[in-house]
Amino acid sequence: MEFTFKPVGIVRSCFSEKFGIPRQPSLVPAARATLELLPPFDRPEALRGLEGFSHLWLLFVFHACPPHDGSLTVRPPRLGGNRRLGVFATRGTHRPNPIGMSVVELEGIDCEAERCSLRIRGADLLDGTPVLDIKPYLPYADSLPGASGGFAEAAPRPSLEVAFTEAAQAQLAELEPGRPALRELIVQTLQYDPRPAYRQGQDDTKVYGMRLYDLDVRWNVEGKIVSVVAIEPA
Ligand code: SAM
Repeated sequence: MEFTFKPVGIVRSCFSEKFGIPRQPSLVPAARATLELLPPFDRPEALRGLEGFSHLWLLFVFHACPPHDGSLTVRPPRLGGNRRLGVFATRGTHRPNPIGMSVVELEGIDCEAERCSLRIRGADLLDGTPVLDIKPYLPYADSLPGASGGFAEAAPRPSLEVAFTEAAQAQLAELEPGRPALRELIVQTLQYDPRPAYRQGQDDTKVYGMRLYDLDVRWNVEGKIVSVVAIEPA
């Protein structure tokens, strides 16, 4: 059996590259995105009733992943990258059918000249992600407080404190207008330490870079402090 799906929309996200994107939605509430619906699903009729829901499920394609190599196990970064678990026991991107699912907050619905898009928050999605389906989040069915969470029982905790050099603060003040909550976005993203697992917990002389919106954000880590050293147009 084979199935073919066409996207109903494309995500325009503040995360312009994979490095730094949170591992699950809601971890970075300042992450803003727009889901641009594609014709013929961009009409107001397709969204009638959606305004009553605070959150949505997005089913999407991990379009920026290499094809699956048939491997039945993966190494979740959550476990430090050195333990293998079954692909179906993880939410990793490298899977037989590269389909992801994320709950996001619905901030608003914008329709202009009968073409609609959704404003969403808290997504863990790369800019350009194709969305296959949108479904309302149903608290009575989708929230199960007594459920057990396997190796991912608790939410990851922020492990780093984020500081800005004077130069970076000045750049931030100049660049924030037009890129809402840029400071919060940087802080919430970096506090989870996006470095590869083998670098975490170590002093590190490397200057890292991450692309948010159209900006290059550069930082380094000393002990438990991330210092943002530059924020510049890419
Ligand atoms: N919440 C989803 C799920 O559980 O199916 C995704 C979880 S996955 C671990 C999250 C990671 O997917 C992000 O940290 C980012 O690196 C990656 N990612 C997000 N959008 C992607 C895309 N369109 N293509 C490839 N990787 C993507």
